[in-house]
Amino acid sequence: MTELVRISEIFGPTIQGEGPLIGRPTVFVRTAGCDYRCEWCDTLYAVLPEYRDEWVLMTPPQIMTRVNELAKDRPVLVSLSGGNPALHPLAPLIALGRRNAHSFALETQGSVSQAWFAEPDWLILSPKPPSSGMTTDWNNFENCLKAAQNKPRCVLKIVVFDDADYSFARTAAARYPALPVYLQVGNPTPLIETSTAFTDQPDVEDLMHRLRWLADRVLADNWFAATVLPSRACMGQQARHLSALVAAQTRCASKSCRR
Ligand code: SF4
Repeated sequence: MTELVRISEIFGPTIQGEGPLIGRPTVFVRTAGCDYRCEWCDTLYAVLPEYRDEWVLMTPPQIMTRVNELAKDRPVLVSLSGGNPALHPLAPLIALGRRNAHSFALETQGSVSQAWFAEPDWLILSPKPPSSGMTTDWNNFENCLKAAQNKPRCVLKIVVFDDADYSFARTAAARYPALPVYLQVGNPTPLIETSTAFTDQPDVEDLMHRLRWLADRVLADNWFAATVLPSRACMGQQARHLSALVAAQTRCASKSCRR
């Protein structure tokens, strides 16, 4: 019997704004429902039962038909996102997508493991830091990595708002030194992202300040294995700011070399 998947939205192609696949054209399949309630969740419409009426039960072929329509029948990167997509039986969808040469990234907080975690190309594990109000169960997290069986490329992606989050990220990275780690600036403005727009404007100046703070922390700690990314809410402005910051630091460094 085909298992149905509860879907919040399917949209794209759009440019991925987070993690190791930042910048890649992506179709998003956002499943509905989540076992977490993060303080700063910006996709509550895919989390809270109040939005249940907007969710749709779909078969894997129905989902894939929509993905193919959006991608104009070309192979594309498909991000399985949520909510928590780990709550759903997504192996048949991935198998179907493979026949269309699609690649898959699964993004989950690592609270629930599934045998099919070995199936996607990427497993992006995003343990939630203290500012989320959630507590990571590292045994469950470990089980997610075990389920992946070293088949997908596994990475850590951690949102950082403050010192406590930064310490959490350091600890998580130390636990899993083999995993590449991506740090993303947290966005405190109550943005709700939909498939078409943000419903509010981000405080760009504040996000710039946060990006500079995070970059400075990483550089001061000589944490060269980390990748610092801007908030997706204003990726363009922050990326330019980060480039300028790095260029300025490089200039300073080369001047001191000449002394
Ligand atoms: Fe929202 Fe993600 Fe937290 Fe779930 S895990 S509540 S989708 S931020």
